[in-house]
Amino acid sequence: LEILGEEFGIEVTVRDALEDVNYVDDYLEEDSDESTFVTRPPVVTIMGHVDHGKTSLLDKIRSTKVAKGEAGGITQHISSYTVEKNGQKITFVDTPGHAAFSAMRTRGTAITDIIIIVVASDDGVKPQTEEVISHAKASGCPIIIAMNKIDKETANIDMVKAQMAEKGMTPMDWGGNTEFIGVSAKTGEGIEELLENILIQAELLELKADPHAKAKAAVIESSLEKGRGPVATVIVQNGTLRIGDNIVCDTTFGRVKAITDDNGNAVKELGLSETGTVLGLNDVPITGSVMVAMDTDKEARDIATTRAEHARAKELSKSTKVSLEEMSGLIAEGKIKQLPVIIKTDVGGSLEAIKGSLEKIANDEVKVKIIHSAVGGITESDIVLAGASEGCIILGFNVRPTGSIKAKAKADGIEINTYTIIYDLIDDVKDALSGMMSAVIREENTGQAEVRDTFVVPKVGTVAGCLVTDGKVIRGGHARIIRDGIITYTGKISSLKRFKDDAKEVANGYECGIMFDRFNDIKVGDFIETFIQIEEKVSVDK
Ligand code: GDP
Repeated sequence: LEILGEEFGIEVTVRDALEDVNYVDDYLEEDSDESTFVTRPPVVTIMGHVDHGKTSLLDKIRSTKVAKGEAGGITQHISSYTVEKNGQKITFVDTPGHAAFSAMRTRGTAITDIIIIVVASDDGVKPQTEEVISHAKASGCPIIIAMNKIDKETANIDMVKAQMAEKGMTPMDWGGNTEFIGVSAKTGEGIEELLENILIQAELLELKADPHAKAKAAVIESSLEKGRGPVATVIVQNGTLRIGDNIVCDTTFGRVKAITDDNGNAVKELGLSETGTVLGLNDVPITGSVMVAMDTDKEARDIATTRAEHARAKELSKSTKVSLEEMSGLIAEGKIKQLPVIIKTDVGGSLEAIKGSLEKIANDEVKVKIIHSAVGGITESDIVLAGASEGCIILGFNVRPTGSIKAKAKADGIEINTYTIIYDLIDDVKDALSGMMSAVIREENTGQAEVRDTFVVPKVGTVAGCLVTDGKVIRGGHARIIRDGIITYTGKISSLKRFKDDAKEVANGYECGIMFDRFNDIKVGDFIETFIQIEEKVSVDK
């Protein structure tokens, strides 16, 4: 359009379609009177390798047990709560995974002030700990290391410190600047010290916000609940969120009908850094979106509907563009394959985590194509949608198809896989991808022989008189001739003889005569390496 405009002498101005409805930026730009600012409680995220005690620690801090009901021991969705220490509040957030945490941050929703990395002192730094370190470092937040399970006899604090120091997290007492605190989620040891440390870090951060402002909150979890409608779990970032507030939340809007605090009690409002669930939105907002209170109901509605329309248009244009790109890619490479999937989950956090993981497991040859993903049960329309894409499977997480939908899926030949553990889902998809990948040829070495003599048979070729020095030489197998360490020939063994007779194979220590397919330039002292080719399916790295 710009080029065309220039041709016709018409000025083209590029305008962001969301410019008028960028409610988050507008919120920030609004003048605020700093005199009404107060210190707000810190928001702390706990991350760590699976089984290192993240959930137990969160539970111990809160002194309620939820770990028992957790499927597979993995924290499936974000939970959050506020505790008090020395009269000061701290809000804790449990993440469904560090990938989801970073995804949220990428979307600009930085909810965390301080990060705690849990490392089991009997197990030390694990691959996921390393990942967490990079995510935490990237966030720029202060990091505290909680060395958990110090009650265990096998706990080795120095090992943890040394391993962490290697990853650039040097303990204070070793001259670094990272606080390491030994804790036990079992006995409660060290937890007071941990909380005190959080408060010290918070003080340094000078976290301030205005309790009198219109509310701004981050959605850390969302779901559709029977009888309650869309539910959003939020952390208030500024202002106070009250019942009756007109709210906009990306493409959704509404009026706050009810608020439940972190203990499940109905409350009238949520203050700075406080967390709870909000009822009243017209639809399920995406995790990581920002909720802002508006002056009027109309304002909230207009912004959300415009944003929703824009999102829909973008989605539509994206789908044609992507498929075109894919088409050209397919033509160019002639081998791109994809696994179309529809993902349905119970809550938004899991959806983001699953989508993030699935996008990552693609390699050059195969990839997952997410046709549709949403929070909620598997519906008839999902089956219809799956039927429209060849080979599409439906992945349900903590959701199950009911009778008639199950029957329809069966009738339409649509595969529905349901899971309660994220890792199982990911593994299954990886396997599915492996199954789809074209077979690769793997080589297996069978043996080695040394050329001791050569004989020229007229009209036939040169025979290499060999001694098998390793493994065995197999007729019909492949061979490489190595001369002075360099491969001079790769091809097939055309004839293998023991004395005058054809042999199927000749083992280590025996002499034999070998001829090669269309190759006669054999010299005494050459090495012959023999191998066979095995076809096998590729699997995506787990
Ligand atoms: P998460 O996967 O990081 O959330 O880990 P969990 O909180 O589920 O804990 C994993 C296992 O370690 C559970 O069996 C806990 O009982 C155990 N555990 C957690 N913290 C401690 C601790 O401080 N001491 C001991 N002895 N066991 C712990």
